[in-house]
Amino acid sequence: MQSIHRMELPRTVIIGQDAIRTLGKEVRGVGDRQALVVTSETPLKLAGSSIRESLEEEGIKYEILKVGKSQTMENVQLIVDSLKSSDTKLVVAVGGGRVIDLAKMAVSKAGARFFSVPTTASHDGICSPLVSFPSSNRRYSFYAATPTEIVADTKIIASSPYRLTASGCGDIMAKLTAVRDWRLSHLLRGEYYGEYAATLAETSVSRIVENSELIRTGSEAGVRVVVEALIHCGIIISVAGSSRPCSGSEHLFSHALDVICEKPALHGEQVGVGTIMMAYLHGADWKLVRNTLAKVGAPTNCRELGIDKDTIVRALVMAHTIRPDRYTILGEKGLSVEAAKNLVAVSGVAG
Ligand code: ZN
Repeated sequence: MQSIHRMELPRTVIIGQDAIRTLGKEVRGVGDRQALVVTSETPLKLAGSSIRESLEEEGIKYEILKVGKSQTMENVQLIVDSLKSSDTKLVVAVGGGRVIDLAKMAVSKAGARFFSVPTTASHDGICSPLVSFPSSNRRYSFYAATPTEIVADTKIIASSPYRLTASGCGDIMAKLTAVRDWRLSHLLRGEYYGEYAATLAETSVSRIVENSELIRTGSEAGVRVVVEALIHCGIIISVAGSSRPCSGSEHLFSHALDVICEKPALHGEQVGVGTIMMAYLHGADWKLVRNTLAKVGAPTNCRELGIDKDTIVRALVMAHTIRPDRYTILGEKGLSVEAAKNLVAVSGVAG
């Protein structure tokens, strides 16, 4: 008998110019008359007036809660308390990955519905059910809440710094090695593997490869390709029931950098460089990964990443210990210092 596989997916996804204007109608559509808007300084400046207008037009009662960007349980509790004291059942999270993650955590505790309104396209957390949260010096990913709706306004996202969008491309290219790690673990460890989710993840990589020049223009059309692919990746995680198709050895490398570095680079930037090296180990087309990242203007080596070669080598050696239950191309024993140094050199990451 086949086992039961459950997928929890977003109800509606709205992408496009001025998508934010539909917010009020969408809130009414899920039957709510009251919302808690969770955001921070910059996104509030960017989107605040459109959000207020849209909610007021539909007669939605709302409160705006500004939270700091730091991912602390105090910030999560602030949102939970606000929901309880106002008896609100819907959170509208407006911002980048951190604000959205805080809202996800709060929603998983308080049991409310959750609209994700990303103002940047820097990684796939803007629409996935997973939260990346720091805990005693490490960063863990775990299931929190699937967004009920995603409203992605491409005009707003295109006005954010381009570096964030280029970083988002790195997080999408990661699916090339994540899927290969997943397949490997299925073959060697008998781990559950879903061909459908794996194929979808590979499709999102192709979208970035085929549209790299358009993306580099920083235009709304280019941003739209990245946002669509990121939303796609979030949904793939929901389809697979795990982050497997979207996060493999390249993510372990990035998590190791987060542990080692005092000032890590952006998540997608680190993951992109990790993908070049892990693609090399997999015998995949690592030059395609490198060229695509270069075309979209994302880092491809130590210098561009702003992290020295020795630290990259240390992170490579450490990566397999980050999440021992996740089998990848790095195997159980990981890379030796010598193998890591060699990888950095042959993949061009040394610069
Ligand atoms: Zn990621």
